[in-house]
Amino acid sequence: MLKIVAGRLIDGLGEKHESMEILIEDGRISAVDEKVDVDPDVRTLDFSSCTVMPGLVDAHLHITSDGDPDLLKKVRRGIPYTALQGAALAKKTLHAGVTAIRDAGAGFNTALDLKSAVQEGLVPGPRMVVSGQGLSISGGHGDPANGWPPEVQFQGRRPVDSPDEARRAAREELASGADCIKMAATGGVMSMGTDHTTRGLTEEEMRAAVREARNRKKKTLAHAQGTKGIKNAIRAGIDSIEHGFWLDDEAVEMMLENDVYLVPTLAAVHHIVEAGTEGGVPPHAVEKAEFGQKAHLESFRMALEAGVNIAMGTDAGTPFNLHGKNALELELMVNAGMTPMQAIVASTATAAKLLDLPAGVVCEDYLADLLAVEGDPSEDVSCLQDEEQIKMVMVDGQVQVHRQ
Ligand SMILES: [Zn+2]
Repeated sequence: MLKIVAGRLIDGLGEKHESMEILIEDGRISAVDEKVDVDPDVRTLDFSSCTVMPGLVDAHLHITSDGDPDLLKKVRRGIPYTALQGAALAKKTLHAGVTAIRDAGAGFNTALDLKSAVQEGLVPGPRMVVSGQGLSISGGHGDPANGWPPEVQFQGRRPVDSPDEARRAAREELASGADCIKMAATGGVMSMGTDHTTRGLTEEEMRAAVREARNRKKKTLAHAQGTKGIKNAIRAGIDSIEHGFWLDDEAVEMMLENDVYLVPTLAAVHHIVEAGTEGGVPPHAVEKAEFGQKAHLESFRMALEAGVNIAMGTDAGTPFNLHGKNALELELMVNAGMTPMQAIVASTATAAKLLDLPAGVVCEDYLADLLAVEGDPSEDVSCLQDEEQIKMVMVDGQVQVHRQ
């Protein structure tokens, strides 16, 4: 049993309270009140000078990629290096106050083993939801056949070119332990030779994979930038649209009707445009990011105003989009139109719900995945970006980081 004294409490659902106490038992929150009565010998952590809130949940990142603009450099180093790098980046992520992540595709499909290593206590890291190898069409997003060097195999993606192949691929991914199935509904910014405005997998291909995932009570996510691919994915029954550059009124309406979440990943585009080709980002990626950025921000605003569920995701691992700097996404969402509290809800309760985790909320029975930060992020989210201000990070009721 453990008691936390909070100077301020943000509950993850949009409420804030001064001077609260939280009781934790067996990894779960068992009471939240102005005063919780416990024996005086119960261990107490005093964060009366801090804000206590749910740990951040990043619904889209790539845990084995370090943000180097040259994606191929590290791929050439092979599986052991990739796995070690994933472990190092998981630790950085946790230390920045991120207590749960969804990996949207890892080098050599190593995220599943990393998840096991974290669960077994072999290495520190956040709670992980892993999408396994994503499904994409031959020549589509993530397929190195589009002019990448021959030694690079299909990285974290598998090609499917019919509903039958999509069905088999989804079944195999689920059998190998994937928590969700990722699909490329359009081309992408980073992949050479693809057009991010045109479709990738067809509606029928995605529907076949969605059925398999649903049959196993798992979710699906679509990398989707152009309007046609976004709508194909929604019609196929997808649970979340990742990136969503070109939403229109109809797409927003379809998302509302079908309870489809948006994971905008504003940081990915932001860093590529900021760094540019001078920073070493491949010219095709800079060109596509610049072309899509304005529409991306407009789509975000449309979804926000319409009331679409927006879950925070950074796409960390893309160029200059560093693990441990995940909280920049909150600032970018505020700059794009959210209030600080809306950005916090997107990064806690909403993201946890998308990941089917009973976390992201400081209420009885939820997982004790928490952080304590100096300052009030509901006034200014940037305090979450300063690691020195993150005084405590807890997963499952276990203190993982405690800075004095
Ligand atoms: Zn991604």
